[in-house]
Amino acid sequence: MSDLLTAALDYAARGWHVFPLHPDSKRPARPSHRAADCASGGFGGQGGTDPHCRDGHAGWEQRATIDSDRIRRAWMRTPYGIGIATGPSGLVVVDLDVHKAGSEIPEPWNRFGIANGGEVLDHLAGANGGTVTPTFAVRTTSGGHHLYYRAPEGVRYGNTAGSIGWLIDTRAYGGYVVAAGTQINHQPYEVIDDRAPAALPMFLVDLLGRDRRPSSTTAVGLARSMRTGTAGSGEPVQSTNAYVEAVLKKEFATLHAAPEGGRNLALWCCAAAIGKLVVRGLMTEHDAMDRLLEAASGHITADAYSSYQAEATIRSGFHRAASRTRSVA
Ligand SMILES: [Zn+2]
Repeated sequence: MSDLLTAALDYAARGWHVFPLHPDSKRPARPSHRAADCASGGFGGQGGTDPHCRDGHAGWEQRATIDSDRIRRAWMRTPYGIGIATGPSGLVVVDLDVHKAGSEIPEPWNRFGIANGGEVLDHLAGANGGTVTPTFAVRTTSGGHHLYYRAPEGVRYGNTAGSIGWLIDTRAYGGYVVAAGTQINHQPYEVIDDRAPAALPMFLVDLLGRDRRPSSTTAVGLARSMRTGTAGSGEPVQSTNAYVEAVLKKEFATLHAAPEGGRNLALWCCAAAIGKLVVRGLMTEHDAMDRLLEAASGHITADAYSSYQAEATIRSGFHRAASRTRSVA
C-alpha cells in the first residue's frame, strides 16, 4: 500500500474528508469540468457523463469523502496528492505564511520585528487575552504552518484571507488544505504535531465572528460565495462575485490568446492582475491560484510550461501585485 493511500485512509479515520490532487500540484484532480459546463454536458460532454454530477454539479468539496473503498479506488493506481476539505471535516485550519524575502513588512509588524504568520498570531492572541492552543500542525513546503482546529458546533465559517492578521488565512467551508504526505516538487508537507485537533481558541472565535456565514445558506451557495473571499468587506456577495468573475473572464481570455513563446509572460501578467483581487480581499490566494492553474491547463498540456513552473510564475505575479499595492498605499 502506498504511503499516500495509507495517509488518506488515516485522515478519513479521523473523520477528515479527503479528495485527490493532481500529482505534484495543489490543484484538485476532479472534477475535470467547470460547473458552468456541467448541466449542458458541454466542454466535450465531460459534465454530462460524470456520474458524480447526476444530481447537479459536484465540486471537490462535495466529492471529498471518508469512504475507505472510494479512497482505495482513487489512490490505488495514481500517486495523487491529498486534499482535505476543511468544512465537511469540521475543521478550521489556520494557514500561517512566512514573509517573502524582498517584500516590504507592513507596520506595526515591522516595528515589532515580526515577519511570519505564527508570530502575528501569537501577538493577536496576547492582544485579545488568549493563547494559541497546541494542536495538530503541518509544515508546508514554503515553510509556513497549518494549525488544524475543531470548528465550534453549529457554525459554518467560510475562508478568510488576511482579514484576521497579516500572513494569516483561515480555511473552513469552501476551502481545503494540502495534507501532510503530499509532495510538491519533491518537498513534503510534514506533520509537526500529531495530537488530535484542539477546539478553535476563543480569541479566534471572536476574530472570526464578523466573518461568520448564516448556517442556513446552502452548501453550493456558500461554496460559491466563499470563492470570492468577501469576508468582512461588507459588500453584497453576489455583486462582488460578479465583479470578480468578470475580471477573471477578461484576464483568462487574454491568457488564452497568448501566442506561442509568450505564454509564460502572459501567465505572469494574468497572475499580477488577478493578484490585485487577492490584495483587495476579493478572493483568497488559494482560489486565485486554483483558477489560474485551471486557466493555464491548456498551456500545461501543450508543454508551454510545467505545472510546477506555472505555480512559480503565478506566485511571482502575485508577489508583484502585493508589492505594487503596498508601495501605492
Ligand atoms: Zn459537473
